Amino acid sequence: MEQPVAHRPQILPGESLTSLIFRVVQYNRFELLDFLNYIRRDGRKTLQRSDMALMNVTPRSTLNMLRLSQMLEIEVATLLKASFDPILRLFAQGSDATQQSRFLAGMFTNKHRYCPRCLKEATYHRLFWVDKSFTTCPKHEIYLVERCPRCHGSIDLNAVAIGQCSKCGHTLTMIEGTTDSNETATMRWIEQSWSTLLEVAPSKFLNDEEVAQRLLYLASGKSEYFERRTVDSSVPKSSITPTLLQHARNSLAEKRALHLGLLMSLLHDLHISMSEFLVTEVPRPFVDSLTQSTDPLVQRLACVAPWCSSFERPGSLMKTGTTYKEYSDGTSSKYFMACTDCGCEYALVNDGEIQERTSFIAGYHQIMPLIHLGMSIKKVSAHLSQPVDQIQRVGAYFSTRLDIAGQVVLNAKLLRRFVTAVADGETLRSIQQWPQWDSYQAYLRYRYHSDVMRALHMYKRTRESKRQDLAARRRQVRQVLDSLVREDVNITIRTVCKMLKVCPETIRNWNCNELIFEAKRNQAAERSAHKLAKVVPKAEELFTIHQKEEVLSAQLYEFIGVGRTVLWRQAPEITAHLSLMLREHNKQVRGSDNTSP
Ligand SMILES: [Zn+2]
Ligand SMILES: [Zn+2]
Ligand SMILES: [Zn+2]
Repeated sequence: MEQPVAHRPQILPGESLTSLIFRVVQYNRFELLDFLNYIRRDGRKTLQRSDMALMNVTPRSTLNMLRLSQMLEIEVATLLKASFDPILRLFAQGSDATQQSRFLAGMFTNKHRYCPRCLKEATYHRLFWVDKSFTTCPKHEIYLVERCPRCHGSIDLNAVAIGQCSKCGHTLTMIEGTTDSNETATMRWIEQSWSTLLEVAPSKFLNDEEVAQRLLYLASGKSEYFERRTVDSSVPKSSITPTLLQHARNSLAEKRALHLGLLMSLLHDLHISMSEFLVTEVPRPFVDSLTQSTDPLVQRLACVAPWCSSFERPGSLMKTGTTYKEYSDGTSSKYFMACTDCGCEYALVNDGEIQERTSFIAGYHQIMPLIHLGMSIKKVSAHLSQPVDQIQRVGAYFSTRLDIAGQVVLNAKLLRRFVTAVADGETLRSIQQWPQWDSYQAYLRYRYHSDVMRALHMYKRTRESKRQDLAARRRQVRQVLDSLVREDVNITIRTVCKMLKVCPETIRNWNCNELIFEAKRNQAAERSAHKLAKVVPKAEELFTIHQKEEVLSAQLYEFIGVGRTVLWRQAPEITAHLSLMLREHNKQVRGSDNTSP
């Protein structure tokens, strides 16, 4: 049993372990290196000052925590909470030091920084100051400082812990600090996340699969089943979805934890707090829809459409609503499935054979060759004695799939509208009445596009009561969006939440994120077009006035009456357009100069 030291400071709120050690050394007039090596972990080589940063990350790899605990009369668990150790145990338990360091790689700065005002309130080093993304103090809304205000030398941990520059002895708090409140909300979020993690961590252990599954579940708005499109539209980069899926399905060749930085930034983007993340429970059906492993049969079966990118590759089929059907002739089908890639529907028939129910495969072999030959729909119909409608449907289905001459390009906006309408529960009969369709054939091309087919299959899977509920919610959200557009108020999830008096979480549960994003995109595009319509004629006016002279960029923006930076921030594409106009004008002026004698 180790004897307690004479002066035993308590850990202060948010204090780092190294800061505590510095204060112990200072109060008891110890030699730093002597003390460090006294509490060094058995078998560890002599500790240097440079080892201290690591003590805030993995203290147990360097220090004998039990000895330190006895000397300071502070519980080991409490000491560890002054470092990132609990977080590593939460996410990367059982992995080795290399894997652990990879989990946090790049998150911490090796410069030592401080908030002058926090330091003035109480002199000690805060653990979160080492997080690179932490740039301003959320409490004081000023930038963290990383150099001595007097000698401008870099700061070390010790200096921050005792509030004095180690090189010139200057008091570190004697600086005002530069105000910036833009990032305050984000900084608060980060600080809150770290605190939550340290608070909960020791009682929990999350494996990598669980972390990724939770993220996918949250990114898909807690929907019943995994829906790739929803996740893609709510994560900032579409490359994130495959990464999450690999982790969630545990299909990585090499086992590694999902980077903590990715976890944090994703949650932040999704407006989900760390505490919500930690209590989120992913329902079984959602996990199953990620791996589709509950149903070994469905997992084993593969799409048999020759043109499908998942042709004979198991895993693309999903079960749709219906499970069993009996026909009057005594036969039956079960396991109704759809291919998430090509949209073909299948069922298992009596003898366990997979049978396509949409007859696109037959169409592919019989109808398409004739259409390729240039035969008209009517002629194909007569030739094969099949109804015209069937030929039209098959033609429409393949018009957006096969790389054939005359392949049609669909209007992306209209396609999205179709998908949204399906998700809203609008019937195909009613969609078919839209005035946008030039012809029945035009409607069919959209109707059989893979995005629409996927939406239809997904819709079928949702329970009837939930469908009605969601449709009503979406109508509400749409009304709010319309009013925001009318009143020219910025569309954000937050504004919509405020108006509906609900939280972002609820909006996600209503599957309305995509709806809002789209309205936001449209609003931005419209505003930009509006601005362009005002700014461009003004620029042209200036160029006409200075027909024979070159115009400076500054001159142009002064004439327009908008600052370049301001405009660039609001509408970068307009600034680009103006630069182009300016270049053209000046080139012309110079060109005509050259030709004049
Ligand atoms: Zn501060
Ligand atoms: Zn100094
Ligand atoms: Zn397929």
